[in-house]
Amino acid sequence: MPRMGIPERIWSCQGCGKEVGRGLTTPSVANCPHCGVRFNNTVEGMMANSNDRMDDLLNRSRTSTPSYSGNSSSSAVAGRIVGLVILLVGALFVLAVVVGAVVLFVYVIKAATAPPKKSKKTRRRPSSGWEKDEE
Ligand SMILES: [Zn+2]
Repeated sequence: MPRMGIPERIWSCQGCGKEVGRGLTTPSVANCPHCGVRFNNTVEGMMANSNDRMDDLLNRSRTSTPSYSGNSSSSAVAGRIVGLVILLVGALFVLAVVVGAVVLFVYVIKAATAPPKKSKKTRRRPSSGWEKDEE
C-alpha cells in the first residue's frame, strides 16, 4: 500500500516502548499487545477503564449486600421495607422542612410588609359610637 503523504504517528507503548500502532489517532487497543499494560490515552483504554470501574462498583455492591438463595428471603423483604420506611420518613422530613421554610418565609414577609402598630392613631377618632346616637 503506497504512502499517500498523510502524516502518521507511530504510537509506542510507554511500558515496554514497543510499537503499538500507527496513524493520526491513538491506536484502537485498550492494552499493549506486547506487555499488556492498560493505555489511558486511547479511547479503548479509557472505555476499558470505565468498564473496570463499573465492574468494581457492581462487585462491591454485590458483595456488600449478600443475596441468600435460601429461606432467608423474608429478611431481604424486611430490609426493603425498612429502606422504604426510611425513604418515606426522609421524604416527610424534607416536606416538613420545606413547609416550615415556606411558613417562616410568609411570616417574615408579612411582618416586614405589615404597617407598624398604630398606637398614635387610636386617639385620632375620639367619637367612638357616635352612630348610635339616633337610637
Ligand atoms: Zn507495552
